[in-house]
Amino acid sequence: MFLLLMITSALADTDVFKTTLPNGLTVLIKENHTLPIVATTVLYKVGSRNEISGKSGKAHLVEHMMFKGTEKFKKGEIYSSVQKHGGMLDAYTSEDYTYYSLSLPAKYLKIALAIEADRMRNCVFDPMEFVSEKKVIIEERKMDLDSPFVSFRDENLKKAFKVHPYRNSITGSIEEIEGFTREGILNFYNTYYQPNNAILVVVGDIQTDSTLKLIKKLFGQIPEGPDPPQVTIIEPEQKQEQRLELKQRVTHPIIQVLFHVPPNDTKDSYALQVLDYILTGGENSRLIKKLVKEQPIFTFIGSSYYESLDPYIYSITAELKEGVSSQKAEADLFNEIDSLKQDPPLKHEIKGAKNQLEMGALFLQESINDQAELLATTEFFYGIEQLQKYAQEIESITREDVQRVAQKYLVKKNRTVGWLLPRDK
Ligand SMILES: [Zn+2]
Repeated sequence: MFLLLMITSALADTDVFKTTLPNGLTVLIKENHTLPIVATTVLYKVGSRNEISGKSGKAHLVEHMMFKGTEKFKKGEIYSSVQKHGGMLDAYTSEDYTYYSLSLPAKYLKIALAIEADRMRNCVFDPMEFVSEKKVIIEERKMDLDSPFVSFRDENLKKAFKVHPYRNSITGSIEEIEGFTREGILNFYNTYYQPNNAILVVVGDIQTDSTLKLIKKLFGQIPEGPDPPQVTIIEPEQKQEQRLELKQRVTHPIIQVLFHVPPNDTKDSYALQVLDYILTGGENSRLIKKLVKEQPIFTFIGSSYYESLDPYIYSITAELKEGVSSQKAEADLFNEIDSLKQDPPLKHEIKGAKNQLEMGALFLQESINDQAELLATTEFFYGIEQLQKYAQEIESITREDVQRVAQKYLVKKNRTVGWLLPRDK
């Protein structure tokens, strides 16, 4: 997803207020008076990227414990106080960050902020709860592994990344989860769950001034924490194609190709984002038009360029049509990608890619939860001040830029080719 272009149009006519509290907490406030509701997001700058291999899954375990009680909100009270007031709550852990969201009728903003302020530093990590939550997560992981696609993707990422923590599963492995101690997890919480390592976003039917006052009152007294350790692991350059074949309970073979690409906010990342839409953005995109519609060898093709702090991947996934050989399909797929290296994309393809992104932005204007999440992740990956620059960067991408990044990154030695095949009967 291209966060910034989306948010540029989604927020074009409104102001986002941004400040940093003395304790380092970044605060973004956006008034939106279309509905009498408010959404808050707290994003912690910690994810599976901050975990070394063999000890992965900590950020995700903390995410679970963040609902299990604090000094003020006893066990079950976070849920009950949000639900009692007609609100909703959500959370997830990603490779780069951990995200918490609450939404409530706007007059209950204080409840949302009180919960987030309290669990930032005052989670109790009750020993009994800790033990039972580990079991919950082990079940979650077992269910994940039950899905052929999840285990396939996990294995493929492990092929592509040899040392960087992006190779780890976000949930962790069952042995790793079993080995976690309360002290170890508490230590992780104390290292990363600090105001200076977080972004707070409030969007909704609120007044900026009074909201800021409330935030200062509730969060301002939390002392600044130590600087969290930097991630210094660098994935060495891949020197030759990596391959994986996995047999699972699937009906049709699936190919997933991972190319190493630079992180966001580099010149090449903007060109790759446009390239992504040229390849699979809609019915007339190259891969879908040629390989799904005109001469159907796949029933489905999708691709993703991910926002990331460190170099990550561009992935293409496709499901084989009945009766087509996997060798032919793979050759056809790479031939089609190669055509983008021989000739730059057409003018209308570039224009179409940019238009599509802007339409995506209009769609996202719908919910204030989405807006709060977009603001938080945009601030995290780019800094909200970069909004204008981002739009300009995307606008400046030329046909030759797209051709150049295709030649540079979509090459054999830089790719990991995974095949998920049906089990022999
Ligand atoms: Zn979970």
